[in-house]
Amino acid sequence: MKLRSATTHRETENTHAPTQRKTRRGAAVSLTATRQLVFELLHKYPSGAKAYDLLNDLRALKPNASPPTVYRALDFLVANGLARKIHCISMFIVCHNDEGKQSIPKLLLVCPHCAGMRAIEDNQVLAPLINALIAQGYRPDHQGLEIGAVCPSCDKSLFSAR
Ligand SMILES: [Zn+2]
Repeated sequence: MKLRSATTHRETENTHAPTQRKTRRGAAVSLTATRQLVFELLHKYPSGAKAYDLLNDLRALKPNASPPTVYRALDFLVANGLARKIHCISMFIVCHNDEGKQSIPKLLLVCPHCAGMRAIEDNQVLAPLINALIAQGYRPDHQGLEIGAVCPSCDKSLFSAR
């Protein structure tokens, strides 16, 4: 995705309503210029970004941007299903629209050493896990499930350092 230049005031001149985004459930969401900008910046980080990464990027475009600006924008994106917060490593990642697909929660493996993430969408893995949660009276979060797990490359380097 291309990033828009710093001239966000030009946004109003565009005719194709760039601030309308579809949530994962298909509802249209209007984004303010700042939320749109944070959303676009987040696309630069396919494997997730910390809020302060986004703040630094945003400050390059809007020098007076403050941490609450970024947090509020991220909260909005998360609340509307456009982004997801990976709680165990405090990172944010874009949620992609899987049009037509059933929105089954994804299982996300998060490495505590390198913060690398890997999504598992294998229903044979997910379905029993989700059923077990439901059997315990839990309602799985539509944002997905996180599991902390040392990734193969960290495991290798940790193992070889011993
Ligand atoms: Zn790792």
